[in-house]
Formats: sequence, C-alpha cells, structure tokens
Amino acid sequence: MSDRLFLVKYGEVSLKKGNRPTFMRALRLAIRRRLPGSSVYESWHRIYVECRDRDAPAAAEVLRQTFGLVSYGEAVRAPKEMPAISDAAAGLAASFVAAGLGTRFKVEVRRADKRFPLTSYQIACELGDRILRDVPGLKVDVHQPEWVLAVEIREEAYLYGPESPGPGGLPVGCSGRGVLLLSGGIDSPVAGWMMAKRGLGLEAAYFHTPPFTSGEAREKVIALTRILAGWDPRILLHVVPLTAFVARIRERAPEEETTLLMRAGMMRAAGILAHRRDAGCLVTGESLGQVASQTVESIGFTGSRIDLPVFRPLCGMDKEEIIGLARRIGTFETSTLPYDDCCVLFSPVHPLIRPDRAHMEASWNGLDADTLLAEALERVETIRL
Ligand code: ATP
Ligand code: MG
Repeated sequence: MSDRLFLVKYGEVSLKKGNRPTFMRALRLAIRRRLPGSSVYESWHRIYVECRDRDAPAAAEVLRQTFGLVSYGEAVRAPKEMPAISDAAAGLAASFVAAGLGTRFKVEVRRADKRFPLTSYQIACELGDRILRDVPGLKVDVHQPEWVLAVEIREEAYLYGPESPGPGGLPVGCSGRGVLLLSGGIDSPVAGWMMAKRGLGLEAAYFHTPPFTSGEAREKVIALTRILAGWDPRILLHVVPLTAFVARIRERAPEEETTLLMRAGMMRAAGILAHRRDAGCLVTGESLGQVASQTVESIGFTGSRIDLPVFRPLCGMDKEEIIGLARRIGTFETSTLPYDDCCVLFSPVHPLIRPDRAHMEASWNGLDADTLLAEALERVETIRL
C-alpha cells in the first residue's frame, strides 16, 4: 500500500458531457505519465494519486503544473465508521495547529454516499466536538475560519485540509497540437503556456540565424522549452536555420521592410512545419501595438503567407500583465537573460508601421522565399527534452 494520498478536483472537464471520457482519460494520462511510480485512478468525480513517501514532493509539483486541475491536496483515508473518522480528524487537526494554521476552524462534510447513517451536519458536529476535546485552544468559527477540515464520505472516508489551487484549463493535448513560434523573449513562452492551458499540445519552432545570433541565444530557447515542458511534457523544439533567407532579404528588399519580411518568412516556414508535423495551428507572442511589426496592418501582412489558424493569445494584454504571467510560469528570469534575437539585430532604423500591402507583396515575390525556406526546413534540428 502507498504511503501518501492526494485528492484531486477537476473543473471544466466535468462539464464536457459527450467528451467527458476523452477528457478524463487525457487528464489521468497527463498525471500518470509524469508519475510512473504512483497509482492514479478516478472515482466519483475525484482523481486519487497514491505514491510513496519520497515521491510526494514530486507528485505535488506535477499536480501544480497539470492543466485541467482545479485543486489538489493531501488527504488521509479512513474506514467509513465514525470512530475511525473521528480519530483521523483529531490527528489532522493537531497537525494543522502544529503547522501554525491558526486556532479558528470549521469542519465541512460532503456525504457523497447517501447510505451513510449520519447526515453531513451530524458528522460535522460530532467531529467538531471531538477536535475541541482533543486539541486544546481551538474554537469553531463557521463564518471566518482560519482553516477548514474537509471530510468526504465516499467509497471510504477522505479527510483533508487546505487545498492548493491547480492551474485550471483543459488537459494538454485534448485540443490538438500547434506550432509555437518561440523566440528568447518574454512574450512567446507565455503565449505557448496560455494555449497549452486550453489543451493545445505544443511543438516549438525557433528561427536561428548564425553567426548573427549566438549559440547562447539557442541555449536560452532550449532552456525556455525545458521550462514549458513542466507544463507540457511532450513539447519538442525545432531549431530552423534562417540565415540564408535573412541574407536574401537584406540583399533584395528595402531596409525598412526587413522585420516584416523576416516575420512573414518565419510564419510561412512554421506553417509548412505544422503541416509536416500534423499540427493544426500556429501560436505567436504578438501583442497588438507593442512594436511596429505588431500593428493591425503589419500583422495583416506577416500572417498572410499561411493557411492555418494563428493564435495570438497575448493580443489584448499589456506588457505588465504578460510579465506577471511569465513570473508565475517560471520563464521570466530566463527570458530576461541578455540575448540577441534576429528580429532585434536586423531591426530597421525606421520600421514600417503601416506597411503598404502591394509593396510588401512585390518585395516578398522578389525573394524566391519558398525555395530558401524549403532548404531551411531540410536542415531543421529537432530537440526532444
Ligand atoms: P518575444 O518576447 O516572444 O520575443 P517580442 O515582443 O519580442 O516577443 P517580436 O520579437 O516582435 O516580439 O516577435 C513577435 C513574435 O514573433 C514572437 O512572440 C514570436 O512568436 C515570434 N518570433 C520572433 N522572433 C522569433 C524567432 N527567432 N524564432 C521564433 N519565433 C520568433
Ligand atoms: Mg522578441
């Protein structure tokens, strides 16, 4: 038998009536895959994770990063009889007091098994009395408790204290897969995280332009992908060499169009990669108006070379909000290491804010982009983390 037990609550997945089995399977699998030594099962609208003592910290970390979960907490299990439940409740209450959670408490009971002889209210009263008798200095406060002891009467009785919030969203993979254009900046990892939260499995594509961009820039993107792998363990990184394409732009196009042509090329190459990898969409870290290449007109052109949906989840967010999320996800520190992105290196002195579509089309047509992009994609390096 395992030493430790986590009780997991899920949210939105339970609403998807017809798809529910698929979502639940994806959720169980997401946990199971990352906790191979544990037992993961579902029963009566809860998921249970049982593991050994030494695996408990890792299990808590995995649950913190599993999309689809609303909350999770460590629980103890007791036989469905009042003496055993009372003993367990008194023991847990003493441990909460020892951990400094406070003295004002409340017992909350959910009686899922309606055959249990006492009502929820009767159970709560009885457990409250027992805790007050056993643990000195406590006080029941049903309106503003400092901690809640939750009791669920199911196949057995489960007792737990304060829960940790899960990240919400949908299990990764149940919304299909997409290619994330991942640079070393702050925005694109956050964009990927937001789409993964809605169930999209990610493959990242980084466009590398050696020798203009350094090996460190590439390492940085690998490090960011590794952090994202905490949220989507199956993420891959495709490193696509774009130097020849960028050189062609600099040779043949007006300087002020450089960024837009480069970005359009990245989108086109990512689109081809997506088809090849059987992914259904692209994701970028663009945010409306943030820079010249992210105006309505600029995005209109850079997104015009592909036939897949492009998701830009940061479009309506301010930089401060994006930074707040980057800190929460754990990518901010890596993203702010000094680095050289090709978009910055080759950014024109006077970038176009309202590019003329006909001009841009003409410049694009003069690049013979598809030949160069096809060559670049032949040399893609795929990194599994
Ligand atoms: P980020 O912080 O993600 O770099 P940004 O605000 O710096 O974004 P840009 O550099 O203009 O914005 O890039 C816009 C988007 O284009 C990025 O969010 C990313 O999705 C994509 N992108 C830019 N450069 C690259 C690159 N070298 N490889 C892959 N994608 C890129
Ligand atoms: Mg950038």
